[in-house]
Amino acid sequence: MRKFKKIYVEITNICNLSCNFCPSSSLGRAKKLMKEEGFAHILKEIKPYTDHIYFHLMGEPFLNKNVDHFLDLAAESGLKVNITTNGTLIKKVKEKLLPKKALRQVNISLHSFEANDINKDLDTYVSDIANFINEATEKSDIICAIRLWNMDTEELKASNALNDDILSMLEDKLNLEIRLSEELQHKTNIKLKERVYINMAEKFEWPDMDRDIIDENVFCYGLRDQIGILVDGTVVPCCLDSEGNIPLGNIFESSLEDIIMSERAKNMYDGFSRRCAVEELCKRCGYAKRHKK
Ligand code: SF4
Ligand code: SF4
Repeated sequence: MRKFKKIYVEITNICNLSCNFCPSSSLGRAKKLMKEEGFAHILKEIKPYTDHIYFHLMGEPFLNKNVDHFLDLAAESGLKVNITTNGTLIKKVKEKLLPKKALRQVNISLHSFEANDINKDLDTYVSDIANFINEATEKSDIICAIRLWNMDTEELKASNALNDDILSMLEDKLNLEIRLSEELQHKTNIKLKERVYINMAEKFEWPDMDRDIIDENVFCYGLRDQIGILVDGTVVPCCLDSEGNIPLGNIFESSLEDIIMSERAKNMYDGFSRRCAVEELCKRCGYAKRHKK
């Protein structure tokens, strides 16, 4: 049986932000919150296929008020959970998250702040996140990864004028003895303390059916290392198929086994084995290009 390194589960596609780089505001999908029965069904289906769930795809997972129950259900199934959040609600969920045994890692996208007109001040936003990280390192084994994925690329200008302020606030609030802006000149990944990391990367670009083809001769780990499950149960090959452009089946209607053995899924998988993007979205995906072999 094929095992996936990770399975993305979108526990909601609703977000409290509208980042200027995110396709979520133009999503054609109905806005939804996953219910507990739905999540329990997904767990039963995916358990033989993975050890790691990621609460992420589109949406802000902490808007789902059942997130703590989902973590308990994951623990009962012996699965570890990684969550990616924009960090705006982290203070509200802190107490219920920290004791959860299933919670392995929290990725916090700090680049969200400047990509929005957030009606919070930067100091409060960074303080809430730093308080979470400080408590998580004291009281739990949770890994915290700060993301600043807003570096300019050759083609794209990102929103990053506040980075220096954010970095010096982090130095102060996390009691760091390093100068982050200097260290990050030489490397993009830094371990800040035990189980706390920061990662800088270029502005992220989702694949887009409306753009020109980038390349057809590509390899990708979609459907090999990972799959995604949208909030309505649609199974997609990766975490980047934000619109469900490659619907392989619905986990509330078919078994995961049948979905990953379907003709469409097999064609896509075999295509990548030949370094060939069969699906139109994959021909327009910069992520695949980066993993070209
Ligand atoms: S926080 Fe994430 S889901 Fe929400 S708008 Fe920003 S990129 Fe999109
Ligand atoms: S090429 Fe892009 S869209 Fe296609 S499976 Fe890979 S990451 Fe997903």
